[in-house]
This record gives sequence, structure tokens and C-alpha cells, in this order.
Amino acid sequence: MARLRVLTVVGARPQFIKAAAVSRALARTGSFRESMVHTGQHFDPDMSDVFFEELDLPPPSHFLGIHGGGHGAMTGRMMEALEPVMLAERPDWVLVYGDTNSTLAGALVAAKRQIPIAHVEAGLRSFNRAMPEEINRVLTDHVSTLLFCPTAAALDNLRREGVTSGLHAVGDVMYDSCLHARARSARSDILCRLGLSEGGYRLATVHRAENTRDASTLAAIVDYLRRQPGPVVLPLHPGTREKAGGWGVDLSGLTVIPPVGYLDMHRLLAGAAQVMTDSGGLQKEAYFHRVPCVTLRGETEWTETIAAGWNRLWRGPDYLPRRDIDEYGDGRAADKVVAALAG
Ligand code: UDP
Repeated sequence: MARLRVLTVVGARPQFIKAAAVSRALARTGSFRESMVHTGQHFDPDMSDVFFEELDLPPPSHFLGIHGGGHGAMTGRMMEALEPVMLAERPDWVLVYGDTNSTLAGALVAAKRQIPIAHVEAGLRSFNRAMPEEINRVLTDHVSTLLFCPTAAALDNLRREGVTSGLHAVGDVMYDSCLHARARSARSDILCRLGLSEGGYRLATVHRAENTRDASTLAAIVDYLRRQPGPVVLPLHPGTREKAGGWGVDLSGLTVIPPVGYLDMHRLLAGAAQVMTDSGGLQKEAYFHRVPCVTLRGETEWTETIAAGWNRLWRGPDYLPRRDIDEYGDGRAADKVVAALAG
């Protein structure tokens, strides 16, 4: 029987991490031929290459080299470059992840070419349309054939919007990736390199547009981090670093380091006393390591982390009583994605 052709579209750091789990599961079956297109949205070695190396992802078959510019221009240029790739590859499925401009560009081109789309991490909502990611998610979900939901809330969100077919509750592929990396991350020497002790520091990341849109918003977050007792390690996204530098935001007192690879990140997570972040992925990874999280935003898509007492909003109420979260699955979400793609 001919193998099904899957064209995976990725471009940003969290997508390499999610796609790695599904790529491994696709390869295990022997029933698929996967090609990967990397849009170039994240292109620095420490935002891109390191994840391909550490997660055993084969190099992408197509690299579009598109980054920067406004959201419209970036998405448009990606669409223009993706169309000939899809025409040449003639995939049975276009596989997209999460909520970036690369996700939306892949989904729109496939929809216009009538190629079925599978969206991994479907149904998440912040209900904040000022977030570029929210627009990307809503539009991608509404043109997708298969929608892989990580949580019960995601399923409910889609049903409320009238999206009722092709829904699959599979759990979270990021948990699959976390389990895959956890043992290897124990060998990372990053705590030693940074002079940190187990449980003796906080870990922070800041990169969302809403937090980096002006000097006073970014300065308020940085002030909050600087007021925390003990070292705060801040692997700084290049976009945030550029803005902080340009605005003269004072980062002194924080342990500011370049973005870290996936294994170093899991080592930092495992030893942290608390995580403070505006990242979607890190909110859950904090829970996977059973480290409490403070989300540096006004809302979160991962509401179950708040309900289960492992997360709170920085200007919101205190932690609720703690319990485990079942819905992220057992580390085999990617196998469920692949089973649905096989039909
Ligand atoms: N991450 C990493 N190194 C870093 C910062 C983040 O490996 O310096 C990982 C993190 O562990 C998570 C993913 O990147 O798996 C999250 O990416 P990001 O915060 O860029 O995006 P989001 O999850 O908010 O979409």
C-alpha cells in the first residue's frame, strides 16, 4: 500500500518541540512519508538548530527563510512560498501546530488548495483577540479537517464555535516530548555553569507581544522579577532582548542568559523553586515537573493548570488547592494523532 504523504509546516521554537514527538510516531508506523517545511520564523541557532539536534529531528526538506516584518507581510510571504511546496509535494495531509504565523500560513494555503489539514493543539482560546496567536488559532481551527485537542476546555471551545466534526481529545504532545527529554536532561550541567543550587532559584521567560509592546509594560514585569527573593534566571528571547536594550530597561539583578536548548531548559525546570512566564508551553512544563508557576499575563489558555492549583496569574488570586491534572495524557498523544491521520 502506498504510504500516506504528510507535509509538516513548522517555523517557531515550540513547533519544533511538538513536531518532534509526532515525527517520531509517524516514523514508527512505517506507513507515512513525512516532509517538513521550516518557514524560517525562528532561525537563530539557539532558537532553531539546537532543537533539531537535541530532539533528533531530521533537517527540514524545505527552508523558506522568512522572518521579520509585520504580521501581515510575514504571513503573506510565507503563503506565497508555501504554495509551490504544497503543489510539488502533493501531500495527503498538511500538519500544522499551535498558533504562530507559520501555522496560519500553512493552513490557509492548504485550505485554498483543498488539501486536508490536521491541527495539533487545536481549540485553545484566550478570548483575547488582541493577541496575534488568538487570530491564528481561530482561523486555523475553522479550516482544519482533524483537530487534535490537548484538553477538555479546548474541545468545549470548538463545540461552542460550531466546530463539531474531526475533533480528537489526544492529550498534549508536549508531555510526550517532555518525557522523551527528561532523562537526558539530567545530564545537563547548566546549574553548575550558572552557579545555581537545586531548588534555590526561580526561572522566568518573557516574549509575548502584549508584554513587549512598550517600555513601561516590559519594565513592570522586569521590576516584578527583580523583586523576587533569590536568583531569577531569565533565558531571554532575542526579540525581548532587543526591545529591553533599545528602551534601556534595567535588567540588573537578574541572571540573564541567551535562550537555552531543550535539555538545559528541562534541567532548569527540574531544579526551579518557581516558574514565572508568559509562555504557553512553560506553564505546562512547570506542572510536568511539579513546579508552581506564575503566568505573567492577564489570562491563560491553559485554565486547568489554574484550577489544579499549579498556576496563577501574576495579578490574580493566590493558588487554589493543588491536585493532579489527568487530561494531558500518558505521553502517547502523538500516537493518537498518527492513528487518526491513518484513518
Ligand atoms: N524553551 C526552551 N528554551 C528557552 C525558552 C523556551 O527550550 O530558552 C522551550 C520551552 O521549554 C517550551 C517551548 O520552548 O517547550 C516554549 O516556547 P515559547 O515560550 O517560545 O512558545 P509558547 O509555548 O509560548 O508558544
